[in-house]
Amino acid sequence: MGNYQSFIGLEVHIHLLTRTKVFCGCPSSFGDEPNTHVCPVCLGYPGVLPSLNIEALRMGCTVARALNCRIPERTWFERKQYFYPDMTKNYQISQFASPLGQEGYLDLEGKNGDRVISKRVRIKECHLEEDAGKMVHTGTVSLLDYNRAGVSLLEIVTEPDMETGEEAELFIRRLRRIVRYLGVCDGNMEEGSLRADANVSINLPGAGLGRKVEIKNLNSSRFVRLGLNYEIARQGELLDAGKAVVQETRLWNENRDQTEAMRQKENAQDYRYFPEPDLPVFSPDADFLKRVEEGLVELPQARSARFRREYGLGEEQAELICEEKAEADYFEEALAEALRRGLSREDAARSIARLLLSDIRRLMARGGYASLGAESGRPFPLSPGRLAAITALTLGGRLTGKNAKQCLEAVIAEDREPEAIVAERGWQPIDDSASIGAAAAAVYAAEQPVFVQVRESIARGPGAEKRRRTLTAYLTGKVLAATGGRADPRMAAEKIEELIARAE
Ligand code: ADP
Ligand code: ZN
Ligand code: MG
Repeated sequence: MGNYQSFIGLEVHIHLLTRTKVFCGCPSSFGDEPNTHVCPVCLGYPGVLPSLNIEALRMGCTVARALNCRIPERTWFERKQYFYPDMTKNYQISQFASPLGQEGYLDLEGKNGDRVISKRVRIKECHLEEDAGKMVHTGTVSLLDYNRAGVSLLEIVTEPDMETGEEAELFIRRLRRIVRYLGVCDGNMEEGSLRADANVSINLPGAGLGRKVEIKNLNSSRFVRLGLNYEIARQGELLDAGKAVVQETRLWNENRDQTEAMRQKENAQDYRYFPEPDLPVFSPDADFLKRVEEGLVELPQARSARFRREYGLGEEQAELICEEKAEADYFEEALAEALRRGLSREDAARSIARLLLSDIRRLMARGGYASLGAESGRPFPLSPGRLAAITALTLGGRLTGKNAKQCLEAVIAEDREPEAIVAERGWQPIDDSASIGAAAAAVYAAEQPVFVQVRESIARGPGAEKRRRTLTAYLTGKVLAATGGRADPRMAAEKIEELIARAE
């Protein structure tokens, strides 16, 4: 394929988590009986009056500010006219001339697969509008559900600053993380709370934008990447063959891993926008802007960088913990409790991070706990304070790593304080040479064939190094198990090495 430059711009729609719809009082809940959350306003009856949900405006402006957009002094709504059965008014109330957020940017920093990405993506605008209803096609009939009609929708439009499917995928993932942090959208792409349309064109280097194709039906960030990379290759082959790209809308077919033509859109649609006469112009006052700023929590990218800087976490650890706000909050609460117990910040941070990312996540999944946050119906018994207590016991040498894991499990299963559990189980660490030596001697007697195999692997030299290590770890594990996990692991390993080295 020839050498082309590619341009990608995204239009992302997010459902705002307002309790009610954007222009009426119907609940904006998902997944209920069709046509149960409707009223004359969202069904578009003649003569009804929309009234603006200020909470939708506040949430929209919070997203706009998180994306470094300017909020104009005056913002208003327009009617966008088109006909489609899922929108009974035959126009959608949207924003056109002065959207609530203008000219921002999102800095993409990070990895996607093997690719290191560092790029500023300009945000053209964020505008608030109403969602349409949903058409369901079954056999020869089409059914309409208007529960979604009128739900608060924020559209975020980027400039065509991205160049690869990987960058676009990272953009979606980062945007999703931000709106979830802000608590304004659940980010569920399968349920359609976050939907993306991707625009892409290619051209000879220096020749500017090419003729764009829009890809719809991208209901996961992975499909955004796959669809765009497929489309860049397809357009490249067309240009290589001396053909032109047709300006059209295409759909991603996830069963065939390809984009397919849906409709041509060469006559740019004329929506005949005009200001919505039933809604007044909105001029944000100081009080409104203050509430917007108050909603701007520390964003995940900044938080992850701070976790690395202040707590000495690795990049991957920090990114994983900061993926969900509830988990990052939990981490910091546990750490604060640990510091109150006099632990060193870096030691405690490392230990808590390790437990959180491995054992705690696993135990949560096993126990069916969906989230660490307070919003989950069933509170997680391992409170940050209890995790700090286990960390203090471990770092203070009063609990081995192995017993610490058992302790986590017991706290979650029994909903009791770690200290009580430790006292009851008698998990006092064993670090005297004689006791561990005795346990190792018992393992030596019971595992003769394994000791023979270890010695053979040593004799075979470096080629059998991996096998030697596996077998040695197995034997050390036996010593730990024999002491109920209480033996000091380093000392247990030393005893096993001594026994391996012992001449027969
Ligand atoms: P339309 O009028 O078709 O909706 P817009 O100008 O509103 O087009 O842009 C919609 C999206 O398409 C934006 O994200 C924009 O960055 C992107 N876009 C516009 N033109 C191109 C192009 N030639 N190549 C790639 N992306 C483009
Ligand atoms: Zn309604
Ligand atoms: Mg447009």
